[in-house]
Amino acid sequence: MDVITLGTGNPLPNPDRAGPATLVRAVGQNLLFDAGRGVLLRLAAVGLGLPAFLHQVFLTHLHSDHTTDFGDLVTTNWITMPADTPLRVTGPVGTERFADLTVASLGADVGYRMAHHQDLTSQPSVAVTEVTDGLAYELGDVRVSCAPVHHFPVDSAIGYRVEAEGKAVVIAGDTRPCDSLDRLCSGADVYVQTIVRTDLVKAMPAPRMQDVLDYHSSCEEAGATAQRGGVRILVLTHFVPGLAPGTEEEWRALAGKFFDGDVVVASDLTSVTA
Ligand SMILES: [Zn+2]
Ligand SMILES: [Zn+2]
Repeated sequence: MDVITLGTGNPLPNPDRAGPATLVRAVGQNLLFDAGRGVLLRLAAVGLGLPAFLHQVFLTHLHSDHTTDFGDLVTTNWITMPADTPLRVTGPVGTERFADLTVASLGADVGYRMAHHQDLTSQPSVAVTEVTDGLAYELGDVRVSCAPVHHFPVDSAIGYRVEAEGKAVVIAGDTRPCDSLDRLCSGADVYVQTIVRTDLVKAMPAPRMQDVLDYHSSCEEAGATAQRGGVRILVLTHFVPGLAPGTEEEWRALAGKFFDGDVVVASDLTSVTA
């Protein structure tokens, strides 16, 4: 099972880092987690630039940075697939409404294209499964479970655990350390965590930035979560504030203070094998 960090950026645009998105490839299946800025560009970079190649899209929560290019997935699926082939999406409570509103927001484009292409006879469709806890997806030899995580005031954020080939990969999304995250991580081979640098954020003069500290994991907390779970590889992503080139070792060392295993400071398209 391979984990590819498609986008490792945060909500602010960065020329070198797309928005949050992670691909898990398992037993021939392509599972996409989150749909941040540029997700289809990064999928194209690994030869999967059409939603048709994706077996399932998973959303961890509905913050904009994790869903910026969801509409691109919906449109590109619609115009490249036979009629009535839905984009298959699993997400937290609220995903169905979010998908409906996204399709509605595309109304002008949908109208133009349906007027122009005789074989486009139906609106874009999205097949949504909303999940909160427990089994989220099962197909062939791939199983995905989920659990609520702590990203208050986002009250429906979930983390995922993919199991296949005797391995386990955790896509935590944005979360504080919490018991349910510990359960997801228990014995995992790879744990992908979005993180903040507490020291750097505290030094920033912007009051709004200080708010991000109370609903994310710091590097140190991600390391401690990985250690408690007996994780093999911790993958750091979604760097807040943006990771200055050349400082990778600082981020790794902060997590490594609390974790004996391998720490990967991800770039876009970093690949880790579980
Ligand atoms: Zn978030
Ligand atoms: Zn985020």
